[in-house]
Amino acid sequence: MDPVTGEMYKPPVKGRMINLINILDSIIEKKLSINEADDILEEIIDKFHDGELETIPQEELCLDKFEWTAIGFGIYLSVLAGWRKEGWPTKCSKCKKMINYREFGWKIVNDELVCIKC
Ligand SMILES: [Zn+2]
Repeated sequence: MDPVTGEMYKPPVKGRMINLINILDSIIEKKLSINEADDILEEIIDKFHDGELETIPQEELCLDKFEWTAIGFGIYLSVLAGWRKEGWPTKCSKCKKMINYREFGWKIVNDELVCIKC
């Protein structure tokens, strides 16, 4: 409250709208449906391509570089949200070789983690 005017205090508006969306947590917490999340992802990527985003989509959507890479492979968002919650798979879904996703060397095929040799 402003003691002089009695109005509610409003923080100064910065140069841009702060509009970060933690897309996976929102799915996990059921604040977003998968369809809504898909729409947001599409919108953010379109804005990025149109030069309307001051950050990169990865930042805008609060994704780490591994999650963002998986999205680049076209993973279904609900699968990825599950991985954030429960942990990533540790094996190639085809040959069962161990995979440390943090070391890359993987791809996503049909929403499953697969080593690059498969
Ligand atoms: Zn494999």
